[in-house]
Amino acid sequence: MKDQGQCVGLYIHIPFCRRRCLYCDFTSFSGHRRWWQRYLQVLLQEIRELSPLRPCTLYVGGGTPTVWPAAYLEELIKAARAAGLGEGAEATVEANPGTVGPRKLALLRQSGYNRLSLGVQSTKDENLRLLGRLHTAQQAHCALAQARAAGFANINIDIIYGLPGQSLAAFREDLERALEWEPEHLSAYCLSLEPGTPLAEMVRKGLLPEPDPDLAADMYCLAEELLASAGYEHYELSNWARPGFACRHNLLYWRCEPYVGLGVSAYSFIDGKRFARTADLASYVRLPVAQRIAFSESIDGALAMFEAAMLGLRLVQGLSREAFAARFGVDPVALYAEAFSWAAGEGLLEVDESRVRFTQKGRLLSNEVFARMLPDRAG
Ligand code: SF4
Repeated sequence: MKDQGQCVGLYIHIPFCRRRCLYCDFTSFSGHRRWWQRYLQVLLQEIRELSPLRPCTLYVGGGTPTVWPAAYLEELIKAARAAGLGEGAEATVEANPGTVGPRKLALLRQSGYNRLSLGVQSTKDENLRLLGRLHTAQQAHCALAQARAAGFANINIDIIYGLPGQSLAAFREDLERALEWEPEHLSAYCLSLEPGTPLAEMVRKGLLPEPDPDLAADMYCLAEELLASAGYEHYELSNWARPGFACRHNLLYWRCEPYVGLGVSAYSFIDGKRFARTADLASYVRLPVAQRIAFSESIDGALAMFEAAMLGLRLVQGLSREAFAARFGVDPVALYAEAFSWAAGEGLLEVDESRVRFTQKGRLLSNEVFARMLPDRAG
C-alpha cells in the first residue's frame, strides 16, 4: 500500500439503473449492460493512474452501483486499496432496495465497504410509486435488516420530502418510521422538480398538485425537531448523524478539500482547479483519459472565497472566521459585510468572534443569503 502522496476523496460514479425514476435528472442509464465490463475496466485503469494522489475516503455512488455484481464493486475497492486507501478509511457504497439481497450485502461488507447508503426515499408505498421507485417500503426495511445482518454498522438512508400532495402529518409518519429503523445517518432532501422529468411534466399539466414550498419548510423544521429528539446531530443543511457518524467523504466537499471523481459526469477538485468528466458514456469508454474531460475551470480569487464561504456555511457549526482568514487573508465578515449584516438583521445568521452560522430560519433561506454573497456582489 502507498503511504505518500496527496490525500483526496475518491468518488466513483456508476451511472446504471434498472429503470429511471420519475423525478431523476442525474446522469444514469437504464439497460446498457453491454457497457458494464468496459466501463469497469476504464475505472480500474483510472484508479491505477491516480498516483501520486492517494484516496483517503471512497464513495461509490450513482446511478445504482448495486445493479452491478458484487464482484465488480469488489474490484473497485481492491483497486482503491492498492492506490493507498487505508484499511480503516470510510468506504461507502450506495445501494437501492430491490437490487440487494443478503448475499450481495455480505459480499460487499466482506470486500471492505464499511458504510452503506440506502436509497430508501420514503417508508410509504404511495410515495415510492409517485416517485417511480422500483422498491416497496417493505423491501427497503428488509434491505436495511439484511445490511445489519451482513455486518454494516454505519448505514445512511435518504429521505425525500416536499412531494406533490404530501401533508405534514404524512411526512411525520414517514420520518418516524424511518427513525424506527435506526440508521446511523439520515439525509433529507426536498424534492426538486427538474424541468423535463416525467414528474415535473405531470405537475405542469395539472395531473399532480404543485408542491407547496411553505409546507416543505415546515417539513424541514419538523425533521430538525424529530431528529434532534431521536439523538441525531444536525451537521449539514440536509444531513444528520448519530455522534461520530458524520460522512467523512462528504465533509471533504464542504471543507473544500481535494477530491477526484471518476466516471461519467463526475467532478474533481484538485490544486484550485475543478474539472468534469464527460457525461457521454460511449466517449468515456472509448476516448483516452485527456479527452474524457468535458470542462475545467480555475477556482481562484473571489470565486474560491465564495465557494469556501458557501460550503462552510452549509455546515451547521458554521464557517470558521479564523480558518477562512488564514486561507484567504481576509475576515469573511468584512468580505461579505453587506450580505451578512442584511442576513443578521433578518434573523438568518449569527455572527460571533469565531464563527458565522445560519439560524434555523437561515437554514430555510440559505439560497437567498448565498445569492447576496455572489462574487460580483461581494466586490
Ligand atoms: S435510482 Fe437514483 S440515479 Fe437511478 S433513476 Fe432513480 S433517482 Fe435516478
